[in-house]
This record gives sequence, C-alpha cells and structure tokens, in this order.
Amino acid sequence: MDTRTVIIVMLAQVSLLGVLALVFGARQRGTRAVSAWGAGLFLVGAGYAGLAMRDVLPALLSITVVNTLLMAASLLFYRSVRIFMGRPVHDPLGVAALAATAVLLFVFSEISPNLQVRILVVSAIGAALFARNAMELRSDVPREVQPSHRFMQGVYWIVSALLLARFAATLLQPGTSLMDPSASESAFFLGVLLVATAGTFGNFWIEAQHLHLELARQAARDSLTGILNRGAFFDALEREMARARRGGGVLSVAMFDLDHFKRINDAHGHPAGDEVLRRVAASMEASIRQPDILGRYGGEEFALLMPDTDADMAMSVAERIRAKVQSKGVEWKGQRLSVAVSGGVAAFPGNGMTADGIVATADAALYDAKHAGRNRVLRSAGRAVTPDSPNGMHARS
Ligand code: GH3
Ligand code: MG
Ligand code: MG
Repeated sequence: MDTRTVIIVMLAQVSLLGVLALVFGARQRGTRAVSAWGAGLFLVGAGYAGLAMRDVLPALLSITVVNTLLMAASLLFYRSVRIFMGRPVHDPLGVAALAATAVLLFVFSEISPNLQVRILVVSAIGAALFARNAMELRSDVPREVQPSHRFMQGVYWIVSALLLARFAATLLQPGTSLMDPSASESAFFLGVLLVATAGTFGNFWIEAQHLHLELARQAARDSLTGILNRGAFFDALEREMARARRGGGVLSVAMFDLDHFKRINDAHGHPAGDEVLRRVAASMEASIRQPDILGRYGGEEFALLMPDTDADMAMSVAERIRAKVQSKGVEWKGQRLSVAVSGGVAAFPGNGMTADGIVATADAALYDAKHAGRNRVLRSAGRAVTPDSPNGMHARS
C-alpha cells in the first residue's frame, strides 16, 4: 500500500474528528476532557501532515518537530484522562518524556541520522505513555461509568500494543525509508486511524456516562441540604423493605420534624430557616452509621432509614439525634438559635408491611410526640396506621 496515501487519508480523518471534538468542547459547558482529546487529535493530524510533506520540509521540521508533536498529542490524551478522573492535570513526567523524545530525535536525525533508532525511540516512549493513559483511566469508578472507562482503557492498551509491535517489527526488520516501508508500517498507520475513531467514540461515551451519572445524582438530592430527596429516600426504603422481606430481616424508620420551625422563619427570616435546615441535616448525617439513609421528607421534616435495626435500637439512635440537635443549636449572624426536633419511630415487620405503611406509622408516632409536648422521640404504640389515615398525614403537611 502507498504509505503517503494512507497518511493523507488518515490526517484528513483524524483532523476532522479532532475538529468535531473541539467544536463539541467549545459548545458544551464542562466538557474540557473532550476538548483535550480533540486538541490531541488535531496535533496528530498536524503531525501526519508534516510526515506527508517529508520530501518538501527540512529534516528538522519533518522529523524532530513532527514526531515531537505526535508525542505531545499523547500528553493531551493524558490530560483528558486526568480531567475525567477529576485529578490535577499538571504532568512533569510527561513533559520530561517529551523533552527526551525531542533531544533523541534531534540527535538521531541531525547529528547521527538513523531511521531505525528514531522509530525505536518514538515507539518505546509512545508505548509507555499510552500504557500510562490506560492505567490512569482506572475502572474503580462508579458502576454507572465503568463501561465507557473500560472501553477507552482498551483503546489506550491497543495503541500501546501497536507501538510495541512497531518497536519489535523495526528491531527485526528495519525499513530503509518511511515512504518505502514494510507492510507492518502501513498496517501501523491504518491502526492509528482506527484507534483515533474508536477513541473519539470512547471519549464521547465517557462524557455521556459522566453527565448521566451527574444528572441522576442531582435528581436524587435535595438542593438545599444535599441529602436524599423524598423520592430517592422512598426508593431506598422500598429496596431495603424488599431485602428485609426476602431475608426475614428487620429495619426501622424514624421521622423527624423541627419544632416550631415557623417561628424561626418569622423571627429571623427565611435565610435563617434555610441555614437551620442545612445545619440540622448535616448534623444528622454526621451522626448516623454508613448503611443508614437520611432524606429530606418535606419542608422541615427528615426521614431516617436504618436497615438491620430493630425498634429498640432505632429509638436510641433517634433519641441521640434529637439530643444532639437540641444541644448544638444553630449559629446565625452571631447569635445562637435554639432548635429542637420531635421524632417518631416505627419498625418492620412489627409496625407495617409496606414502605407507605411504615412511614405512616412513624408519622403517627411523631404526631404523638408533638402532642406530648415536642422535643422528644416516641415509638409507634404498636398499632399500624394506614397511609391515608388522618394521623398519617400530619407531619407530611
Ligand atoms: P410544629 O412544631 O408543629 O412542627 O411547628 P412548625 O412551625 O415547625 O410547623 P409548621 O408546619 O406550622 O411550619 C413549618 C414551616 O416550615 C412553614 C414553612 O414556611 C417552613 N419551611 C418549609 N420548608 C422550608 C424551607 O425550605 N426553608 C425555610 N426557611 N422554611 C421552610
Ligand atoms: Mg415543624
Ligand atoms: Mg412539618
């Protein structure tokens, strides 16, 4: 195959992919990783344009500069990986590898010209840098984004393997000129083209999976307090109920409602009320165990799900939370607002068989706590309340 034709097709295709990724990066907010990938492809395109003009350009440009550009592309790919992983992008090791490449290329083209050594140098350093990209793009990321991470890891491993194969082929059977190469050299250039295409797909896929995960997380969270919202809490409760039912386990739910919260809003303003809600949520979140799940159930109402916890244990947890809220209070503009909370506890299977039923029963106990004078936690008096009974509705008003 005519290598020059392959190179020209490849530079056109790779540059187009690079431009598309750059346009996407510029148009979509928060997609810097795809921009870095696009810029890298653009460098690859520029590098191959330089290779195609090897006879026209001075050797310094067409060898040292072009190959350094190609190596710099792998650093931009590394940058995209670091952005995806949420890590700092500074890369002294990569810059050192790039500088070493430039010096070696200069030595083996201007001082002691040797095509074979140059290909060996570029292949070995390139293989190492792409292996680094693959390892850096780890798969111990949230389950939702693992498929795209694995795919892109595979792409980087393939590039690394291609470069190693090129290294081995050059070692065994050196070509005489880049434009009159062995079949393996043509295959290598084709391989780069396929990988650039697959990699562009991979980057968009990672971006899409990250955005999707971000949206799903936002949709599950309450924007004021950052804890789960009512829908997400209920999903978790139904999941845990199903698990407890299957395994014959127990679980408890505590509902909390701030006492006379309206007074805080009235006396200090809505922003003070918001701050109290944030602080109380944070304090509750800090005092629960890892498997427990806290949600904001309504305006000033919180729900706590305690898997594998019976009513006695749940009572002591809820009481500890109540005491902590009361003792801490909330700092607001230099003064300490006193805050208190009432709670109601219900347990599965004793106080209800469905998620709705157990919440309604805990709500009824909360209603009792309010009536008994607030700032206390009561447990369900043993009766199961249907979700639509009047008692069950109070605290969800
Ligand atoms: P009780 O002890 O009986 O629960 O009295 P309460 O004042 O806490 O109960 P009530 O239901 O009368 O008032 C709840 C108040 O919570 C009314 C509402 O304005 C306020 N509220 C609900 N959501 C928010 C919020 O997001 N921010 C603020 N600042 N206030 C909120
Ligand atoms: Mg209240
Ligand atoms: Mg309320």
